[in-house]
Amino acid sequence: MPFSRSVPPTKKKRVTLAVSGAGIILIALVAAVSLSANRAQTPVRDISFSQLREISESGVAQTVRVAGEVVTVTQADGAVVQSVVTNAVAQHEVVAAFEKARVPVTFETQQPGVLVTILNYSLPAAALLIFGLIGWRVYASMGVQNDSSASETGPAQPVTFQDVAGVDEARAELAETIEFLRDPDKFGRLGGRPPRGILLSGPPGTGKTLLARAAACEADVPFLSVSGSSFQEKFAGLGAARVRRLFARARKLAPCVIFIDEIDALGRKRGRGGDSASADQDQTLNQLLVEMDGFEQLSGVVVIASTNRPDILDSALTRPGRFDREITVNLADMRGREQILRVHARKLKLEDGLDLGWIARGTPGFSGADLANLLNEAAIAATRDNSEAVGRPHVEYARDKILMGVERKGFMMDEEERYATAVHEAGHVAVGLAVKNGDPIHKVSILPRGRALGVTQALPERDRLMRTREYLEDQIAMLLGGRAAEVLLLDTMTAGASNDIERAVEIARRMVAEFGMSPLGPIHLGKPEDPHSQKLLDRIEHATNDIIEAQLKRACEVVDSRRAEIAHLVAGLLERDTLDADEIHESFGIVQEKAA
Ligand code: ADP
Ligand code: ZN
Repeated sequence: MPFSRSVPPTKKKRVTLAVSGAGIILIALVAAVSLSANRAQTPVRDISFSQLREISESGVAQTVRVAGEVVTVTQADGAVVQSVVTNAVAQHEVVAAFEKARVPVTFETQQPGVLVTILNYSLPAAALLIFGLIGWRVYASMGVQNDSSASETGPAQPVTFQDVAGVDEARAELAETIEFLRDPDKFGRLGGRPPRGILLSGPPGTGKTLLARAAACEADVPFLSVSGSSFQEKFAGLGAARVRRLFARARKLAPCVIFIDEIDALGRKRGRGGDSASADQDQTLNQLLVEMDGFEQLSGVVVIASTNRPDILDSALTRPGRFDREITVNLADMRGREQILRVHARKLKLEDGLDLGWIARGTPGFSGADLANLLNEAAIAATRDNSEAVGRPHVEYARDKILMGVERKGFMMDEEERYATAVHEAGHVAVGLAVKNGDPIHKVSILPRGRALGVTQALPERDRLMRTREYLEDQIAMLLGGRAAEVLLLDTMTAGASNDIERAVEIARRMVAEFGMSPLGPIHLGKPEDPHSQKLLDRIEHATNDIIEAQLKRACEVVDSRRAEIAHLVAGLLERDTLDADEIHESFGIVQEKAA
């Protein structure tokens, strides 16, 4: 059955092979099979409609394929994402957005690729493996393979430093690189040492990719973008070949920027495992080192790599002449967040009273990507409300959604469960209000969200750079407040506290083992095989336990002394599901006055 179908002429590469003569049909077939095996290796990530919309506006999309309800986007970095859009109007809208951004959109009838079908039914697995291997080699050596993992974007999707906010230091550090790319020769004449490799390290979503792209755009040079994970191959040598091709292409395009996202995927410390995948990784990394060492002084190619795990990189990567400049891109502080919000608010209509500074204050710890997402979700909420502009309630809704997960509407808890959840959450609130050094309680809710039945939200007022012992203890006490209330007021325990306990223990363990905040004093754990370390581990467990016990006791004392207030809060929660800061204070304040 599979053979009766003709190959759909959509895959240019396959066709190129097929027409090059009947004699190599077999090779073509095998090569194509291995190609589709390779395609299957690129993991397709499922994304939500709102993420799809964000992508349609972000300029990262390279091609879009629509097959029925499935919209598949290949991004400039090689990543493939897809979203099922059942609503025809919504699909139309998002497709229009892609077309407006001049991203090519193709429509396909849904039909399993004939080669995939062959793969599934016809060839025995062993033969497939052998053919695939040979085919791949032939295929690669024929030079037909269009390196789909590297994508080049010129000025078609301009990103300037105007679009990257709150990262002034990183930007300043890139200035010299831009200077070099603009005029490599001049740089040499002046005797400067041209930059080769720059490592951008920092948490995900902080704008590392954006920075690299902006640097290329400002210098007006091509931007070759690849993902470190796209070099992960099953067969030794393939990853290295890709690196070679990438650099060959870069030399032709020079001056240009090669951007390697998630370099930790290929730059891990070498020589860990004996399997072929890790052998391939070692070869890939070696090839990268060779290519970087082989740069002529003024070849005009700058490699920018990004990672959020600089600690696991092979040290050979960061030697002089390779990635010898590290630029740390941190989460933005409040001012930075406001600037980032300003960038993303440009394309939105905001209500007059909506102050971006207010949003920035309420979003400590949010990355640039989180903030972009926040405004996007708020805009969607505003559209759903038929509002003219984005207002506070939309932002509040979006933030709750990002922080706590989506409300599970229609998931009904029975009254007993609601009551138990309310008591548990009220315990968190009571302790949170009683402790001096904790973060202010922002909201409490017994609407199930994600996997949680209830949530108490505490947000820092400012960005915390320093966490004191008192702050950490207060956090632990607050986390254990839920359990304390269960024990004292419900005379039972629920499994819902397990996540609280996990987090509390984690903080306590770090206090002991990392921060030296226990009677053990400043300690450091050596290698696991060291018997001394084993003994120390036991003592760490003990000290951790002591902290937990002490804070649970403290939480119980608070709950015990606030029974009336807690009862009041529980009643409010049962009535209204969610209470904000004012309502919480009111509830506690009124009762306190009465009690006085
Ligand atoms: P990273 O590479 O650090 O993981 P990205 O550069 O891919 O992060 O950022 C993802 C998205 O988040 C960007 O496309 C942009 O919309 C937004 N973003 C992140 N950081 C910033 C920033 N500093 N300024 C403006 N937008 C940002
Ligand atoms: Zn809890």
